[in-house]
Amino acid sequence: MSTVLVTGGNGYIGSHTVIALHESGYEVVIADNLSNSKLEVQRRLEKITGKSFKFYNVDCCDKEALRQVFEENKIDSVIHFAGLKAVGESVRIPLDYYRNNIMSAITVAELMKEYGVGKLVFSSSATVYGMSEDVPFTEESPLGVCTNPYGWTKWMIEQILRDFASANPEIKVCLLRYFNPVGAHESGLIGEDPRGIPNNLFPYISKVAGGTLECLTVFGDDYNTPDGTCLRDYIHVCDLADGHVKAIEYLAKTEENVCVFNLGTGKGTSVKEAIAAFEKACGHEIKHVFGARRPGDIPVCYASTEKAERELGFKARFGIDEMCSSCWKWQTMNPDGLAD
Ligand code: NAD
Ligand code: UDP
Repeated sequence: MSTVLVTGGNGYIGSHTVIALHESGYEVVIADNLSNSKLEVQRRLEKITGKSFKFYNVDCCDKEALRQVFEENKIDSVIHFAGLKAVGESVRIPLDYYRNNIMSAITVAELMKEYGVGKLVFSSSATVYGMSEDVPFTEESPLGVCTNPYGWTKWMIEQILRDFASANPEIKVCLLRYFNPVGAHESGLIGEDPRGIPNNLFPYISKVAGGTLECLTVFGDDYNTPDGTCLRDYIHVCDLADGHVKAIEYLAKTEENVCVFNLGTGKGTSVKEAIAAFEKACGHEIKHVFGARRPGDIPVCYASTEKAERELGFKARFGIDEMCSSCWKWQTMNPDGLAD
């Protein structure tokens, strides 16, 4: 049985991907330092799958600690999720972001080379397309100028991994550019569990719907879009998880050294539409006010999904209604998130 090392596998996207891999017959080993997730996720994964996954509490920047994972397991491929991801925080503490995200990627790559592991999937982001308004973004769209250190770490790691794969023909790298992952597992047992007041739209709406937060501020309703609010390509986290299984399968058969895929739905949803869809899912009004634009926001961002459909065989199954209803189930079952 093929074994996948999932770094950051205790986090939001990682945990959903662990389930998708398990359901597709892969053996999974998880490495996570719990800097942005709770160990309770492992118990929840066990409840969902009936399997207790091998879990290492290690920092992926710590080469000797991570080496133990490669020593003790016959790893065939790696999905590297481990990283810090809060845009605003990255502006405040840029060096922490550069150190953690870049060092962990380099350390994983070095150990892969050392242990002869040839397949790497990396969590990149649509943020690498920068401020361009030329939508939809295709994988050939030029990389842009990022507006924050978090975005730059993705941009830089993409380049580092391209160089790594070019220099090492035995290594194959798949860069996955996620659009806006939202929603939760159908069980309601795992989902997005941000610390403190959320920055992103869906976690914020969920908390307002659940009564923990009073009111959502919509950042700008004077954009040049159909209803004046920004459009994003929201993708159900379980679809995104399936995209990773497809990427692992693709790496097993491709001749290419480096491949890049967008993971989105190809459809833009406005903030107003997202609120309306969530109101339908939870059955009551979401209190909101209209405020100023948020610096750095682009008006419209959605993916071209053609390449992923054609080459990966990936097509998102879920729409905005399923994203909202799964989010709402997770919120109602875990109003205060997971316990430490
Ligand atoms: P998350 O914070 O829920 O998960 C990341 C996990 O990595 C956490 O469990 C954290 O404890 C762990 N981690 C962080 N640094 C580590 C280190 N040095 N060593 C070991 N573990 C470490 O985030 P997520 O939303 O699941 O995102 C996963 C990946 O996808 C990240 O790389 C993120 O940048 C990327 N991504 C996320 C989004 C999004 O909107 N959620 C969009 C695009 C890209
Ligand atoms: N947004 C909002 N209020 C919030 C959080 C987000 O109006 O409290 C808007 C934000 O301006 C953007 C959209 O919702 O237009 C998605 O924001 P998010 O931070 O979730 O994703 P990103 O902007 O990083 O794609």
